[in-house]
Amino acid sequence: MFLALAFILVGLAAYFLGRRNGAARTVRLPRDYYEGLDHLINDRFDHAAEIFARMAQADGDAAEIQFALGSLFRRRGEVDRAIAIHSRLRDHGGAELRDRAAFELALDYQSAGLMDRAECVLEELCASREYRRAALDHLVGIYEAQGDWAKALKTFHELPPAVQTERTQVAAHYLCELAEQALLQGEGERAGTLLRQARTHHAALPRADILAARIADSGGDAPGALTLYLQALELSPGLALEIIPAAMTVARRTGRADVLGELGRRLQGSGRVSPRQLAWLLATAVPADQVARLPGVNAELNLGVASEAEASSLSSLLTRIGDAGGRYQCEDCGLNSVRWYWRCPKCRGWDSMRPAVFKWAERADRSSPAP
Ligand SMILES: [Zn+2]
Repeated sequence: MFLALAFILVGLAAYFLGRRNGAARTVRLPRDYYEGLDHLINDRFDHAAEIFARMAQADGDAAEIQFALGSLFRRRGEVDRAIAIHSRLRDHGGAELRDRAAFELALDYQSAGLMDRAECVLEELCASREYRRAALDHLVGIYEAQGDWAKALKTFHELPPAVQTERTQVAAHYLCELAEQALLQGEGERAGTLLRQARTHHAALPRADILAARIADSGGDAPGALTLYLQALELSPGLALEIIPAAMTVARRTGRADVLGELGRRLQGSGRVSPRQLAWLLATAVPADQVARLPGVNAELNLGVASEAEASSLSSLLTRIGDAGGRYQCEDCGLNSVRWYWRCPKCRGWDSMRPAVFKWAERADRSSPAP
């Protein structure tokens, strides 16, 4: 990365030097240039930066060198110096550079963790035709990271309509986050309203089903809760590890002894799990004290666990692997995680986590295909 930046800087410097034939400068600048280059190549970054800064200063037009320097400083973690360069460019670099410098300055503030300042600069940039879209994207990112879902939603609605249509699911997640907060504060009614709003953004929304199930359950409607859990499971088998334990708890209270078979049928009915994935998913998701019931649905669901001993050894083996290496994996960036996230903490993608058993079962199928 650093080497690539060095080359860019060298290229820019060469360009600006080549453009200029001013007699006074041709003698002094090239020596500076080669000296700076020597420092860069030998990783004496401070000396190189000083020399290039001097060159940039000597030539008022060499804004490109200053931009390159600024981002070099930021990437090196010397954010103070990047801020100094970009502030100067924004305030004194002329109208044509102002927005670009402001945007770079916002990135500096972001990487320095000065989110309030980044927010201010980005909000101002929303008035810029060229930088509005990028500023909105960064603002959404900041609000997501801060868990400020109301602001994230408001900013989302300022994005171009085509982008909003493309990302309806994201807006639905913001509303689900707000509904979860409302639930935590004991505002069930408000949570219900927010969930209805979420569904207007995105109709098939397993997360909203799960939250609605929790609301129904706490309101004493256990059968209604169970229906919603089953619906969410069929819609999204990847949520099995979250849904199955909750559904079984509700079912136990209502005396639904047959729920395990129903859960298995819904997973099968989704058409998105192989026989081995179904067996392994159930063995992982069913609470330890209920695993002994798996052989009871073995024949119907073709799970390959005919005895209690087989069910419990499969379950404890899969649980052990999950506890050590992560029960979930992000499909986009590969992050392994023991707990569930709607939004991957590493790549920040929504709905990208999957139960790791999916992958393990696929691998097992490849090495010994199921009969
Ligand atoms: Zn990820």
